[in-house]
Amino acid sequence: MDSKNVARASVKDLLAQLPSVDKLIQTAPYQNAIDQYGREEVLRAIRHALQAKREAIQAQTLLDLPVPEQFYEEVASELSRRAAPKLKQVINLTGTVLHTNLGRAVMPPVVVEAIAAAAAQPCALEYDLGEGKRGDRDEIVEELLCEITGAEAATIVNNNAAAVFLLLHALGLRKEVIVSRGELVEIGGSFRIPDIMMRAGAKLKEVGTTNRTHAKDFVEAIGPKTSMIMKIHTSNYAIAGFTHSVPEAELAEIAHQHQLPFVVDLGSGTLVDMAQFNLPAEPTPQEALQAGADLVTFSGDKLLGGPQAGILVGRKDLIQKIKKNPLKRVLRVGKITLAGLEAVLQLYRDPARLPQRLTVLQLLTRTQAAIQLQTEQVLPQIQKIFAGLPLQISTRAVLSQIGSGSLPIERLPSVAIAIEGQDKTGEKLVTRMERLLRAGQVPVIGRFQEKALLFDLRCLQDEHQVTWLAMLEAVASRLKKAKS
Ligand SMILES: *Cc1c(COP(=O)(O)O)cnc(C)c1O
Repeated sequence: MDSKNVARASVKDLLAQLPSVDKLIQTAPYQNAIDQYGREEVLRAIRHALQAKREAIQAQTLLDLPVPEQFYEEVASELSRRAAPKLKQVINLTGTVLHTNLGRAVMPPVVVEAIAAAAAQPCALEYDLGEGKRGDRDEIVEELLCEITGAEAATIVNNNAAAVFLLLHALGLRKEVIVSRGELVEIGGSFRIPDIMMRAGAKLKEVGTTNRTHAKDFVEAIGPKTSMIMKIHTSNYAIAGFTHSVPEAELAEIAHQHQLPFVVDLGSGTLVDMAQFNLPAEPTPQEALQAGADLVTFSGDKLLGGPQAGILVGRKDLIQKIKKNPLKRVLRVGKITLAGLEAVLQLYRDPARLPQRLTVLQLLTRTQAAIQLQTEQVLPQIQKIFAGLPLQISTRAVLSQIGSGSLPIERLPSVAIAIEGQDKTGEKLVTRMERLLRAGQVPVIGRFQEKALLFDLRCLQDEHQVTWLAMLEAVASRLKKAKS
């Protein structure tokens, strides 16, 4: 027999030796797997693994069948891979507190409890318990929002992009909306004011220039088709240098002289003065309303620190008009959002204790000294974990970001653990480490600054430190194995 025939014979033999699904499923480990995952799922995983073997045999990359234990391991790992959530919890050591790609605000335990309770049982979402008839879901948070912001009325939609869209559609359809050229923002994830405006059926009327817009620009742009003057908080960039913009109070006055509403999209919209916590000032809905805004929109999951939501507050007649628009029904929120929003807004009734109770504020107000202490405490452990590898591990002063377009140019002094390679081999290890940490059981997300992998500890909550170190340990042992 020539070698070709030998190969063909062994391919045939190997295929014939593959165990049958029926036989496998009778054995103990597979029976246990059925208890855990269900019969259908185990059968699917076995077929999947057998198919992979068949293909490998035919491609002659598999020359020996795996022992039964090893084959089971493959099936089990496929089963656990499929059962693992796609929405993984991660450890955010990027230094960006409100990281949109990592889910923005981390919510306080009381908010989480309220959300869980609303999910677990029926609740009076849209039911007037006093009258025993249908109620209005916005009323769950309207009183709180009015009390905190000083507005007359409020309504809630899916996110702030939806809030802006809805207000443009409800008040600006087939009419003109006057906006300064300096404020035609794009927020990450394809939210661009000109596009949103077009889709909402409103016509954008740009005035002024990128860097300078004056009161007379607005006055001259007002015509019979004008529906409103709109101000958009330039939340993710700053125009510096030779600039001019018209203060809110003046815009409100111009609008009101022409019987037009003045609306403000704040984006982040914190409900308290951030300066009292030594944080950079961020405009509040209260200030905008006091300056004469008729409507203000902001997000629930940025600085406010709650669930994803778009909040509209302002004049009662305008809110009523918005609520009557059929798109309100399309963009409305569910009980989970309202439960979380109510719980988080309750915290604002006691502003003095907010930095302890509102997780976002707790993270933002951590001092560099406190973070420094935390990094110094873990540094020796991390150095020990990676001992023997050509790595340099140290603490480094860094700047954290608030994120989500809040306070765009401000940075918060923080401290990171920095991991760098001592040589070319070390540099490669750092690159691998970053990848392995992302793929770990609890993914850890850091950031690169040049060749150093940084773990900013601003957002490392105490209860996650052990997990983080365990993930580092797992990665270190893989790196060491690969090296030896
Ligand atoms: C973030 C932001 C939005 C979009 O809010 P989402 O809650 O992400 O939908 C709109 N406008 C401004 C000014 C923003 O900063």
